[in-house]
Amino acid sequence: MNQVDVIVVGAGPSGAVAATVLARAGVRVRVLDRATFPRDKLCGDTVNPGTLAILRRLRMADGLETAGLRIDGMLVTGAGGQSIDGRYPNGLHGLSCARRDLDWLLLQDAIGAGVVFDEGVAVRGAVVGSRDGSPAVEGVRLGTNGSTHTLSAPVVIAADGRRSMLAFSLGLARHPVAPARWAIGAYFPSPAASNGVGEMHIRPGGYIGVAPLPGGVTNVCLVQPSQPGDRAFGNPAALLKTVLAGEPVLRTRFEGLDPVGRPVVLGPLAVDATGRAIDGLILAGDAAGFVDPMTGDGLRFAVAGGELAAGAALQALSHGWTGVHERLVRARWREFGAKWRFNRALRALVSSPFALRGATAVARVAPGVVRTLIVRAGDCSRTPEQSALSARV
Ligand SMILES: Cc1cc2nc3c(=O)[nH]c(=O)nc-3n(C[C@H](O)[C@H](O)[C@H](O)COP(=O)(O)OP(=O)(O)OC[C@H]3O[C@@H](n4cnc5c(N)ncnc54)[C@H](O)[C@@H]3O)c2cc1C
Repeated sequence: MNQVDVIVVGAGPSGAVAATVLARAGVRVRVLDRATFPRDKLCGDTVNPGTLAILRRLRMADGLETAGLRIDGMLVTGAGGQSIDGRYPNGLHGLSCARRDLDWLLLQDAIGAGVVFDEGVAVRGAVVGSRDGSPAVEGVRLGTNGSTHTLSAPVVIAADGRRSMLAFSLGLARHPVAPARWAIGAYFPSPAASNGVGEMHIRPGGYIGVAPLPGGVTNVCLVQPSQPGDRAFGNPAALLKTVLAGEPVLRTRFEGLDPVGRPVVLGPLAVDATGRAIDGLILAGDAAGFVDPMTGDGLRFAVAGGELAAGAALQALSHGWTGVHERLVRARWREFGAKWRFNRALRALVSSPFALRGATAVARVAPGVVRTLIVRAGDCSRTPEQSALSARV
């Protein structure tokens, strides 16, 4: 494919969804990723019910139900020993599935829809020209096997994740000063059968997410504050083992177990969009901002954000760029605004020892509040029909 209408940088969930929607609409799409697929990605590996509903509506990742493990809710524990098991309502469920498998399934849908996929291709930056006196993105600079060349297209979608080279280099995204949280993720062998729930163990300043996966493996993600020069993350396997050994609810389960493969460290986690926009470029998924992994809903932002980005690209291709970014911002607020506020509130709560003590006291006398939060985090109220309506840019 020599001529392309849209270049999608990043073949994660947001890029795969955006590319699939566009290719199905007859657009010539080329997806670039620096990794070769299937590839690993640090994540809690849970797909919440709201994400699943969108994927079903889009007829994507059909094989996920068989590749994944059914998740019926979340177990949340606090430092004071509280333990609350909240189930998703009305028979709704999520799934757990290693991102290596989920992302590969989504990418195969994109390829099946006619997308050209180039793997092992790192994007080094945007080609910025000028349109009507203002800067505009006209393509990307690629680095392949030591050589650099450019690829042009009327639309570029940056779906290149939390540390988006395109969004950061153009000043469209940045890490906030606080909170500076980092994550360590690892897989452990799991002798015990799955209990059908994901787990979130909230502790002062951070938390541990645990999810059963198919094939007798458990995903463990530890999220903690960290500052530059912090040595604690220098030996992630040791830190993880020490933390798990100090946890009464997890100690016995992980005693004597070593991670399968090397733990992965990632951070700082939070990314804020600066609110700036540039014609020719649309941001999707984590590249457009990331609050915190605690709520386990990054994939919903990614797949819904990928669909919204595709809608914006279609408008730009048909009618030009006037008003495209403004409409996309409004559509993203409709779709995500309430959940962003919810996620920011929970992120702040975990950061404040005082607020966390208050929340612990509330959870003790009114566990129903925590169950409501679990349902909210799972995006259970977003039916496929609702998400289809707000997916319009
Ligand atoms: C610790 C942790 C736990 C999480 N747990 C969950 C969870 O349980 N459930 C959930 O829903 N969400 C979870 N999330 C969030 C979720 O992982 C992300 O929101 C999701 O991966 C975003 O998808 P994406 O497509 O935007 O980006 P990504 O999945 O990061 O994909 C980006 C792609 O871009 C490629 N790329 C990057 N730079 C370049 C470049 N320069 N050139 C070419 N290609 C490039 C990468 O190789 C990658 O394939 C978690 C996040 C973290 C950090």
